[in-house]
Formats: sequence, C-alpha cells, structure tokens
Amino acid sequence: MTLDVGQELEERFVRYARIDTQADESSATTPSTEKQLDLLNLLVEELREIGAQDVRLTDYGAVVATIPSTVAANVPTVAFLAHVDTSPGFSGTAVEPIVHRGYDGGDIVLPGDPTQVLSPEEFPYLGQKAGEDIITASGTTLLGADDKAGVAIIMVMANHLLRHPDFAHGPLRVCFTPDEEIGRGVHANLPNDLQVDVAYTLDGAELGQVVYETFSADKALVTIQGVSAHPGQARDVLVNALLLAAKIINTLPQATLTPETTSDRQGFLHVYRMSGTAAEAELHFILRDFERDGLQAHGELLQQVCAAVQATEPRARITCEITPQYRNMRYWLEDDMRPVELAREACRQVGIGPFSTPTRGGTDGSRLTEMGVPTPNLFTGMQNIHGPLEWNSVQDMARATEMCIALAQLWARDERS
Ligand SMILES: [Zn+2]
Repeated sequence: MTLDVGQELEERFVRYARIDTQADESSATTPSTEKQLDLLNLLVEELREIGAQDVRLTDYGAVVATIPSTVAANVPTVAFLAHVDTSPGFSGTAVEPIVHRGYDGGDIVLPGDPTQVLSPEEFPYLGQKAGEDIITASGTTLLGADDKAGVAIIMVMANHLLRHPDFAHGPLRVCFTPDEEIGRGVHANLPNDLQVDVAYTLDGAELGQVVYETFSADKALVTIQGVSAHPGQARDVLVNALLLAAKIINTLPQATLTPETTSDRQGFLHVYRMSGTAAEAELHFILRDFERDGLQAHGELLQQVCAAVQATEPRARITCEITPQYRNMRYWLEDDMRPVELAREACRQVGIGPFSTPTRGGTDGSRLTEMGVPTPNLFTGMQNIHGPLEWNSVQDMARATEMCIALAQLWARDERS
C-alpha cells in the first residue's frame, strides 16, 4: 500500500506548526495557555468538515472524535492520540516552517540564524533522507513537529478512512490533548471520554519505532526557609537560604546520576530550576528511572541530602516533597503485548522493520496505560525536538499514516466472541 497523502500531510503540518501552542508549566489553568485552544478549536472545525462523528472539545481541552466502524463484527475500539502543545523549553512564537523539497543530502543552513546548521554528519538519520521533503523551522524557533507531526498524521488518516468506507476497520477515536510537555496531558476523565480498549500515541521518532517502555517519573520540590537579617547586623543571625540551596546541589552527585552523565537504562536526579532570596529558596527536581526501585532510591537520596544539610543548620527549615508523575508503561503492557505486536505487524505490512527502544521520557501513554488504557507510542519521524534544529520528513509522516491505517485494519480482525 502506498498512499498519496504527502501533499495533505505537508499542508496540514505547516498550517498547524504556524500556530503558537507553547505550554506553560507555571500556569494553573487548563489548558495551561489559552493559545493552545487556537489549534484545538481549528481541529474541531476540521474534524467536522471531514465528517468525523461526535466531535467535541472537553472542558479540560482535549478534542475527541469518532470514526464509525465499517465492519459488522464486535471488534475493539482503538484511539489515536497526539498532543497539540509544544515545549516550554524553546520559543514557539511565529514559527516559519520551511519545506526543503527533494533534500540534496548536504548541510541545511537555517536562514533566520545561519549559525544553526543541520548536517548529516552530526545527525546520521538526516543522511538517510536524501531526496525526501524535509521540513525545518527558520532557526529562531522550534518547529513543533513534536507533536504536530502526530496531529497531521492522525488527521490525514481520519480523512482517508472517512473517504474510503471500503477500508475495513472497527470503531476509532481520534484525540488531541493539550499540555503533554508539562506532564498534564492526561486528565482524570480522559479514559472515560475515550471509551476505548487500546490507544496509540503518535509521538515517537524514527521510522519503525514502537515504544512500550518509558521512564517512571517523580518530581520533587525542595523548599528552604532561612532566617533573614539586615546584612549590616547579620553576624550570627542570618541563615542564608541560597547558600543552603547551593549546599544541597553540591552534595548531590554531579559526575553520575545527572541527565548529562547518564544514558540507555540509567536513571537520574535533575535539578532544573532554582529560585529564591537569602530568606527563602526553592529547588525543583525531576527524578527518572526505568525501574520502581531505582526511582525510589533517587528520591531517598534527595531526602537524605536534604536531611543532612538540615542537620548542619537547625535554624533553617528544609522540606522535600516528592510527587509521582508517571510510571513505565511496560509494567502493564508486558501482561498483554498484543497492542505492541499488532503495531509491529502493521509496520511490517507497510515494509518497515519495527524496533523498540526504551524512551528516556514519558508520553501521554504512560499515564493512560497506568489508568487502564494500554497505549504504546508510535513513530512520526520527528527529530531534534524542543530546539531550533527540529525537523521531520514528509515521507516519514506518510509512512506513519500508512502504518496507522494498516493497524486500524489489523484490529478489525480481532473479533470478540
Ligand atoms: Zn511529544
């Protein structure tokens, strides 16, 4: 099967990428930024235009729609999800997607900042893409292929299936969520609003990637209350919260157990924000590991260090609060690998060799799986995400679309008694 969907994918992707949907962790609203609704509302409109059923925007900012079954048999309902938000880590304002048509295999210099160069020596996956249509941003923003590639793939799949009712598939749900990048993509009501047996996120990278292992994740907030005093009369009175914060960071491992010193299956503690004054300070951490034991050990280490620093200065008050974020989806999927096996089979059907590597991160599927909806993550082609060198290939998105259609057809054979 080769579908002629490249042009529609490119048009949709470029249209969605131009819309600023950056998430904001410091916001308490849902979605975290109002501007995500610009794309969510557009998707509601476009889903209605292509004839999807029961299209709605939930009060927590997820778009849910149905593609009715084309088979009589009672087969599982399958959801395809992507997130509309982009990372708070790099600007997503005024994204100018550039299509490098028939990429020549050489360096791509981004015109908005010529110091930003995509070279196939540095990024070998790009080297495999000569002749394809590569999309980049202009050099001053991220592209937002994470995850607008997933949004475009799902929209094109939905449009294709709605136009071709001769394709056998069971009931399908498409769903677009806000705030995945800040870990708030899966609302408590989402499983109930989806009403599905299995789901897939389109939020993976290289062609053939079928992910069923993610990090297990906690976050930690350390607060330090010092004793403030006028610096001129501070002798033996002032307890400087910033110095204690620095001491905590300095006591934690730095040559191991940090993101910059770990890879593959190793976990880490990562301090990603510190703020405060001499009077009070905060340290924000994320803790990551593939195994529950490892994650717990990282939390215990942080608590021990906080307690040790507290012991050096009884006049200060140091607290360490650890909050669970998501868990490795393997814990649930290994009991029933069918969602993973069918995704691999769908890849093979469209001529792609599937592979599974553990993701050093989480997806909306990590939480959904924990909530009872098995949700592996599938490739979209996105590369160098969250920065100015982000890119993807129109042809990779087309292969992902074909794979999703094949997957929908495979589930339609899974008749229940
Ligand atoms: Zn993503």
